[in-house]
Amino acid sequence: MRVLLIEDERKVADFIARGLRAEDFAVDVAYDGLAGWELASGVDYDLIILDLLLPGLNGTELLCRLRRKGGKAAVLVLTARDATSDKVENFEAGADDYLTKPFAFAELLVRVKALLRRPPANPNHVVHVADLELDRLTRQVRRAGKRIDLTSKEYALLEYLAAHAGRVLTRTMIMEHVWDESFEGLTNIVDVYVRHLREKVDEPHEHKLIRTVRGAGYCLSDEAAP
Ligand code: CA
Repeated sequence: MRVLLIEDERKVADFIARGLRAEDFAVDVAYDGLAGWELASGVDYDLIILDLLLPGLNGTELLCRLRRKGGKAAVLVLTARDATSDKVENFEAGADDYLTKPFAFAELLVRVKALLRRPPANPNHVVHVADLELDRLTRQVRRAGKRIDLTSKEYALLEYLAAHAGRVLTRTMIMEHVWDESFEGLTNIVDVYVRHLREKVDEPHEHKLIRTVRGAGYCLSDEAAP
């Protein structure tokens, strides 16, 4: 799950980002409205946590632009203001939830998880690719009816591949969606995780679902790998 946090108070931003990363979310942080808009308009986030009072571009305007552009990310608005008119204005602009500062991290986390559980455009939260089955609510994975245990990063990678089944995803696309910008690990991290997934998802079965497309990337597909 990829999260964008737009918050100009660095201490608050770093505190939230640290907490969410500890929960295995991939978090990008922007410290002003314009930097936030640049990321929000260019990357496909699952959730945006948005402060309202921001230098550069305020949160409400950013939210309006995002929705006008067709951006579907869930948006959780953070603000020190508690006026009902502000809440109404932001819900009308397309916010999904609202949290008034100061708040406890535990409450933020509960709301983040609730928003992400809300299945997106596709009301069917179970994704099937051949005999592979992913339940996006419980994060359980089965193949041919048999439960497969995955780490949270492995799950995130498989969910991303499954959500775009049949399409070739480049390493850059996968990096951007499953890891975050602050990630400074192995450059071949995607290949390493694909290998882990193959061991768990494909190795025990004759019909392989994860394909390497040479020079391009990876594809999860119903068609047998050549
Ligand atoms: Ca602020």
